[in-house]
Amino acid sequence: MSRVRAAADAGVDPSLSGLSKAVTDKLGKLGIARKFDLVLHLPLRYDDETVLCPIADAMPGGEVLVQGTVTDCDIKYRPKRQLVCRIADGSGEELTLRFLNFYGNQVKLLAPGNLIRAFGSVRLGHLGAEMVHPRFRVVNGEMPVAQSLTPVYPTTAGLGQDTLRRLIARALADEALAETLPQALLQSLGLPAFAAAVKLLHNPPPDIAQATLQGRSHPAWRRMKFDELLAQQLSMRVHYQRRRAAGAPVLRARGDRIRALLARLPFQLTAAQNRVLAQVRDDLGQPHPMQRLLQGDVGSGKTIVAALAAVHCIENGYQAAVMAPTEILAEQHYHKFAEWLEPLGIRVAWLSGGLKKTDKKQSLAEIAQGEAAVAVGTHALFEDEVVFKNLGLAIIDEQHRFGVHQRLALRMKGAKPNKGAQPHQLMMSATPIPRTLAMSYYADLDVSVIDEMPPGRTPVVTKLVSEERRDEVIQRVRDACVAGRQAYWVCPLIEESEKLQLQTALDTHAHLQETFPELRVGLVHGRMKAAEKQDVMAAFKAGDVQLLVATTVIEVGVDVPNASLMVIEHAERMGLSQLHQLRGRVGRGAAESACVLLYQAPLSPMAKERLKVIYEHTDGFEIARQDLQLRGPGELLGARQSGVPMLRFADLAVDLDLLDAAREAAEVLLRDAPEVAKGHLVRWLGGRNEYLKV
Ligand code: ADP
Ligand code: MG
Repeated sequence: MSRVRAAADAGVDPSLSGLSKAVTDKLGKLGIARKFDLVLHLPLRYDDETVLCPIADAMPGGEVLVQGTVTDCDIKYRPKRQLVCRIADGSGEELTLRFLNFYGNQVKLLAPGNLIRAFGSVRLGHLGAEMVHPRFRVVNGEMPVAQSLTPVYPTTAGLGQDTLRRLIARALADEALAETLPQALLQSLGLPAFAAAVKLLHNPPPDIAQATLQGRSHPAWRRMKFDELLAQQLSMRVHYQRRRAAGAPVLRARGDRIRALLARLPFQLTAAQNRVLAQVRDDLGQPHPMQRLLQGDVGSGKTIVAALAAVHCIENGYQAAVMAPTEILAEQHYHKFAEWLEPLGIRVAWLSGGLKKTDKKQSLAEIAQGEAAVAVGTHALFEDEVVFKNLGLAIIDEQHRFGVHQRLALRMKGAKPNKGAQPHQLMMSATPIPRTLAMSYYADLDVSVIDEMPPGRTPVVTKLVSEERRDEVIQRVRDACVAGRQAYWVCPLIEESEKLQLQTALDTHAHLQETFPELRVGLVHGRMKAAEKQDVMAAFKAGDVQLLVATTVIEVGVDVPNASLMVIEHAERMGLSQLHQLRGRVGRGAAESACVLLYQAPLSPMAKERLKVIYEHTDGFEIARQDLQLRGPGELLGARQSGVPMLRFADLAVDLDLLDAAREAAEVLLRDAPEVAKGHLVRWLGGRNEYLKV
């Protein structure tokens, strides 16, 4: 243990002091803030400069180190200005070194008669073998070849490999590379010691199988990945425990009003809903805040679970807040909650940015005085003027759309009147991610999954249709609407320009309205005022509008069971989870539903693969799994807003075994050897608390 502590406390000077501001700025761009970060800055690849290759053996295609005397060096002007130099080494052949950009100094270094050592890839030019822009130096006297492979580091403009190599070599020599982890743990995982692993990765011996370095499967690489994953898991668990150490109101299961609500529902909860509800209610009865994420595919019925959790809270005399990321979704939650709870004598208040002044004032007063037991709203709920009488539960829908600060703000609102006790938090997400990924990314939360759909849904038929057959699709939309059903028309995502996207939506709306004079065609987009959006959605819900043209704002949560047809334009531009979310808007009623994915031919192979996945699968978790395989976890999750940085070394698509091991080790270390855990965290995170989350 003392050795571990030494590792944390050692380090001569942990900062980067002594370097110029220009250099530290550039290092900062690479994420290097302290000396130890240099140790952790691992090579992208390696050059083999350990053997001199006779020029006669320098074959096109490979990268080699050669040495020869300059026989000739000339500036040529055809086809364009360039420096062409020839070297010979007595092996019988000459090699051309070609420089398309060069300095006067280089011309001097390459003067005939000088002995040159050059490294580069060989290709076939019209004078025979040549190197374009090789790295070279003049050899004076004895100059041994490198003993290990030469690392090539990720870098940034203005920071050369030589500088980086020098800085890293010095850091490797200066820093104490003491072990942070117990021998027994390393042995059981078959991982090498830390010092040996980093030294090997920075300066591999020439006889190493380069493929294991490149593919990052070498035990040294696995050690670094494990350490990184362990640091991530430890940090997330520490934050989880810290939050858990806070007090929370103990909300006991009473149940009269829960039973009344269940009795009034036109359906029975599924087994999955019952299971997660039991988990939530159990958490609510604990004296520390719940931190639970409720995952469930689109349409799996998360809202009713949230409502029942709110009732559980209210039965104990506390208030519940329900927050959604968009006006449309928040408004819909408001109606649902009011419909379910007001008959039980529970007052539900509505709060959004678009509210009239007087209405807002009234909502605020009801929330402050506790007349409203539930407040439903958007970001407006975070604002300072919103004061709860006694908030016991915060429900956050589509949690990944909210930032850390917002979640924190809501928690603090609960803490104030409750003498520091924090409200319970229930977060919901319809963005399914594979279980394994969830274990990593949500290591700071408890996760419940609704893995079953309510009965009686007719599966949505998905059709892939080329843009050329747009007219047929338009006809089909008309038929559905005339037959009394409703449809969505989703306009393409235009990432480059929001303005263009808006214009496309306006044009499509105008065109469809013109095509269907007998139908009412509505339009909803992100730039509309909240009240306008609400009006359109209400009209669509009431059936007054038959066809709704929309941008992707309807992606989350909208629930209109009579809508049974959806057309998505330029489906090839959208992400799989987005398409899945959009498609989830139909198939909510009894009518047979369809989703038409219009695409622009020709499709790239990747786009083809992705559309195939959405065409073949309806289960969100399966789609997410395939998406993960196609794109890798980084792109799938994006950098999580909550502050978890992407992993640098580990790749969750391949290193799941290490992730499992890291999870397990984190639990054990935090329980049995907190000092070891701390030492490891300090090494990997230093002063930066990059895994800090709320
Ligand atoms: P999501 O999980 O996507 O938020 P919702 O909570 O909006 O899904 O539920 C989708 C629809 O299913 C709603 O109309 C809801 O009333 C209905 N629903 C929820 N649970 C059940 C159930 N057990 N049986 C039948 N319908 C249900
Ligand atoms: Mg929902």
